[in-house]
Amino acid sequence: MKYIDEFRDGATARTLAAAIAREVRPERRYHLMEFCGGHTHAISRYGLADLLPGSVEMVHGPGCPVCVLPIGRIDNAIELARDRGVVLCTYADTMRVPASEGLSLMKAKARGADVRMIYSCADALRIARDEPRREVVFFAIGFETTTPPTALAILEARRTGLANFSVFCNHVLTPAAITHILESPEVRDLGIVPLDGFIGPAHVSTVIGSQPYEYFAEEYRKPVVIAGFEPLDVMQAILMLVRQVNEGRAEVENEFTRAVTREGNAKAKGLVAEVFELRRSFEWRGLGEVPYSALAIKSAYADLDAERRYGIAYRPVPDHKACECGAILRGVKRPADCKVFGTACTPENPLGSCMVSSEGACAAHYAYGRFRSATPGERSHA
Ligand code: SF4
Repeated sequence: MKYIDEFRDGATARTLAAAIAREVRPERRYHLMEFCGGHTHAISRYGLADLLPGSVEMVHGPGCPVCVLPIGRIDNAIELARDRGVVLCTYADTMRVPASEGLSLMKAKARGADVRMIYSCADALRIARDEPRREVVFFAIGFETTTPPTALAILEARRTGLANFSVFCNHVLTPAAITHILESPEVRDLGIVPLDGFIGPAHVSTVIGSQPYEYFAEEYRKPVVIAGFEPLDVMQAILMLVRQVNEGRAEVENEFTRAVTREGNAKAKGLVAEVFELRRSFEWRGLGEVPYSALAIKSAYADLDAERRYGIAYRPVPDHKACECGAILRGVKRPADCKVFGTACTPENPLGSCMVSSEGACAAHYAYGRFRSATPGERSHA
């Protein structure tokens, strides 16, 4: 298959691994964060960590949209469907995320709430058109990749006067999260999570381009390589990062040139700018409140904003006591550090969000069984 098979070639992967092994300096270690769950998935699925020299350590980041959604927001969505009688439309992964009181959207549906799984927000528009007597809310989550389609849905609802449709907006932003990680005590002061560079997201960057990463590459002196999600993309990105570290460079490089430009997709960015504005602060699971890290619907589209229409009040909710998702999303712990990983918590019975989505670190490690036992405490720092 064009653009797939050639990026999964084992012989080339071993050649890249040999190049990385030649490149690493014996006196130092390399801690590289793959921000995105898609990269975590590729690293686990293809056993890439096993190909790397022991001195190269991959650290999981928070780039899984389902994983970073705080419990309180799922509770809000359940309340909309259960108590306000709306048709709540959302993507499949979101249905199984554990919420308060042992609930999830899936369980709420089993108890009679009208929760519907959709493949795109166009499906939610169609449901609203087909059922004009029902209020339909699209539970919108995700990073910059899924934001333009939500903007389009809002514009389409406005254009067609679809009065029974609204959006519960939970879209979040990648660069703000990376900055927050770099500012965290674990990275900045305590040195618990040493970070030498980032593998930047693929699909997010097709929309926003590579330019937004330039700020923290320069400001924090951390190299970034934007990479595709195939195994050879990831291996090439690791080689590029190791070279930057060795040469003392902190630049934004683009491995994913077949889809990402510096400017990104001007049309998609224009749609987002038309409909959304920055929130002052938004709670991320694992990261807590992150300033200017999420989007809200502009007041010009207030009639299509479920938060305003239903007066949704957000209440923070702590994670399940045993769950280490927060620490995993900050790169402080690994899935195997969680006492209930693979026992009480499995993809069939997830206790935390990282076990729900295939992009979640726990789900990826569980599915492919490829993980190193070293905890961050055992890592030697550069
Ligand atoms: S294994 Fe389950 S409970 Fe433990 S951190 Fe992962 S998702 Fe949370």
